[in-house]
Amino acid sequence: MSEKKVAIITGASRGIGRATAVELAKTGYFIVINYNSNEEAAKETLKLVREAGSDGEIAQFDVVNAEQTSKKIKDIIGRHKKIDVLVNNAGITADGLFMMMGDEEWNSVIDTTLKGFFNVTKLVLREMVKARNGAIVCVSSASGIMPNRGQANYAAAKAGIIGAVRSLSKEVARFGIRVNAVAPGLIETEMTAGTPVAAMTKMIPMERAGKPEEVASVIRFLCSPEASYMTGQVVGINGGLF
Ligand code: NAP
Repeated sequence: MSEKKVAIITGASRGIGRATAVELAKTGYFIVINYNSNEEAAKETLKLVREAGSDGEIAQFDVVNAEQTSKKIKDIIGRHKKIDVLVNNAGITADGLFMMMGDEEWNSVIDTTLKGFFNVTKLVLREMVKARNGAIVCVSSASGIMPNRGQANYAAAKAGIIGAVRSLSKEVARFGIRVNAVAPGLIETEMTAGTPVAAMTKMIPMERAGKPEEVASVIRFLCSPEASYMTGQVVGINGGLF
């Protein structure tokens, strides 16, 4: 069994997932860095995790693919014998007006968030229940609570994950497992690279976008014993947007 606490972070090759990997590494977690297609970026995250004073490994799997995910997660559990923290962070956008939205735009966004959550969490949860210990954080979005136009797929996925978090938290609280969500507003990552940030920041009381590190520190808190009486919660990180 690994001596360090073990954290799996989906979509940890870039953005919020990478910042979370580094933040948890600073507090001593061994980090399992999941990515889908960007291997170079995942390697860079591993380098940053090591620079932060801990260690980790890279695990390529598409969270939407149940078979691929199951094989990798079982292998990870087989070697480490435990998972202390799971951060369900992998997500994509495919914005567009609903009338113009195709099956691919709808399905890919919903599946990455919701099938991804189901595929990964189901397997990890079994180990957490056996250990009577664990913290799960899902990355939702301000769009799951107060969406903009042109994001019906993303808003549905991110509202859906909040429902799943609230329900699951009630099922597993008695096993010592906490399940929470964060709902970031506009955060500077590759996902928002095409967004007209200047126009959008006019709507944000703090008049700026957030940084991935500002989300990662809240996720780290939710995973820590400092948040030991928090479960089923959705924490907004949005510069005062609402
Ligand atoms: P990002 O920079 O685009 O990174 C997305 C990450 O998800 C990458 O590591 C990517 O892996 C991974 N990923 C995507 N599809 C995957 C799949 N099928 N299987 C495994 N990994 C997959 O995005 P981000 O801004 O950091 O977003 C992270 C999370 O925060 C998402 O859930 C997003 O919806 C949410 N969020 C973001 C914002 C924002 O303003 N940025 C606001 C609210 C919520 P590859 O590198 O291999 O492609």
